[in-house]
Amino acid sequence: MSVCAGVDIGSTASKSVILADGKIVSQVIGPSSTNPAKTAREIYQHSLAQAGISESEVVFVVGTGYGRAQVPFADANISEISCHGRGAHYFLPGARTVIDIGGQDTKAICVDKDGNLLDFAMNDKCAAGTGRFLELMSRTLGVQLEELARLHFEDGEPCVIGNMCSVFAESEVINLVNEGAPLSRIVKGLHLSLASRVASLAKRVGLDPEIVVTGGVAKNRGVIAALEERLKTRLSAFAEGEDPQIAGALGAALIARDQAEKKSG
Ligand code: ADP
Repeated sequence: MSVCAGVDIGSTASKSVILADGKIVSQVIGPSSTNPAKTAREIYQHSLAQAGISESEVVFVVGTGYGRAQVPFADANISEISCHGRGAHYFLPGARTVIDIGGQDTKAICVDKDGNLLDFAMNDKCAAGTGRFLELMSRTLGVQLEELARLHFEDGEPCVIGNMCSVFAESEVINLVNEGAPLSRIVKGLHLSLASRVASLAKRVGLDPEIVVTGGVAKNRGVIAALEERLKTRLSAFAEGEDPQIAGALGAALIARDQAEKKSG
């Protein structure tokens, strides 16, 4: 049995995936911390325990994500841009454009038929268009992140949130709440505002179908619907049980498997 691992230390969440003979045998997600090396070790051990595999059985580990240089036990570290392409391609082999919406940055990635990186564009200077935007707004609204999708699909026209900047958008949201606007309409407006930002980023790399969204924010079906509205096209969805948030760690594990095969000749 050939066992490989991918550990993705993101700005907000850390993820670990174990692959045995090319199949996912474990996937763990936890919060990132101010001690990435410790978080990496803990999340990796957790995923090994979940798979019932000992560390000595793992032939290659790839670290990725914002804290990829701080995965002390990794055999290599690779940019998450390459890893998201490979991870998305594993679940959806027809994917050619991957939009990764993470905690503090968003990327639009073009890949070839094997999921390898061709081109990308990135937004990492501003919270707008990232998970941080929705985290801030859900706190202002006093709703859980997991509730946003349900609210999105309630009846009612979306409120217009004109400002893309998180600071000004928050003032708009407070005004809307004070005027008595229903939460569902505000949430729909916020999703469309985020989607506008993400759509303009994605258009910079072109939009070859199939288009797939990865990252933690892709779990919010309201964001996917808003992005479909802004891009005027259907997006390919992950199947039930496939988690778009592990795409980076999964891609890292797939690259680890390639490297292990190369090493063994
Ligand atoms: P990073 O790799 O940058 O740390 P992730 O791809 O792990 O980011 O995504 C983290 C983001 O995903 C957070 O901003 C969080 O708000 C969002 N997120 C995670 N789970 C959910 C969920 N169930 N619904 C909505 N948003 C979610």
